[in-house]
Amino acid sequence: MLLELEDVTKSYATGEGRLEVLRGVNLALGEGESVALTGESGSGKSTLLHLAGALDRPDSGRIAVGGREISGLADAELAQVRRETVGLVFQQFNLIPSLDVAANLAFQARIAGRHDANWMQRLAERLGLDKLMSRYPEQLSGGQQQRVAIGRALAARPRLILADEPTGNLDEATGDAVLDLMLSLQGETGAALLMVTHSARLAARLGSRLHLQGGRIT
Ligand code: ADP
Ligand code: MG
Repeated sequence: MLLELEDVTKSYATGEGRLEVLRGVNLALGEGESVALTGESGSGKSTLLHLAGALDRPDSGRIAVGGREISGLADAELAQVRRETVGLVFQQFNLIPSLDVAANLAFQARIAGRHDANWMQRLAERLGLDKLMSRYPEQLSGGQQQRVAIGRALAARPRLILADEPTGNLDEATGDAVLDLMLSLQGETGAALLMVTHSARLAARLGSRLHLQGGRIT
């Protein structure tokens, strides 16, 4: 299994006391699987994805990423798990404005010590970015920026791809094209994909669907 959550709980401190967001979440995701995570706004989808991506820690429960238990790891070790195993794609692209497309694409793979020029070139071609390599993020459309963000996430060949409403800021046609690319690259690399979406239509394009409600998967 590339991702396993067992009885995971997570709450936040708020002005009105503790907000229990996840109340015992279980899920398992294996190589090559693609799973959509749906749920109403505020149901805890992003919270779950952050935990799976080793960006935050649960209150209780067990999380294993790439077969490695991460619940008790220190910050530096969590960062290592992220670098080695996880590729993250967010709704807000999060590109680095001062770097051109080529440098944005290579950024995380270089940090991870897994830069591979041939794979980078192939990725750029598959994502239709090969003619845009020396542009800066502000010179790209939303769909182009999100293709860069996907390329950056895949550049280090992560075994687990976590995407949080990756097409949420794109119009429907552009979003569909971006999702097509992400799914075909995920299929090619055999990575596991967990994608948050509030769209039942997009969720139906993935292998299976999980729904988050009342802090649990239903
Ligand atoms: P979703 O992605 O499904 O819309 P989130 O996981 O972002 O939901 O948020 C779940 C709930 O937790 C929401 O009510 C949100 O306001 C709250 N929340 C998220 N992050 C924090 C935080 N850092 N501090 C306090 N409350 C938070
Ligand atoms: Mg969210």
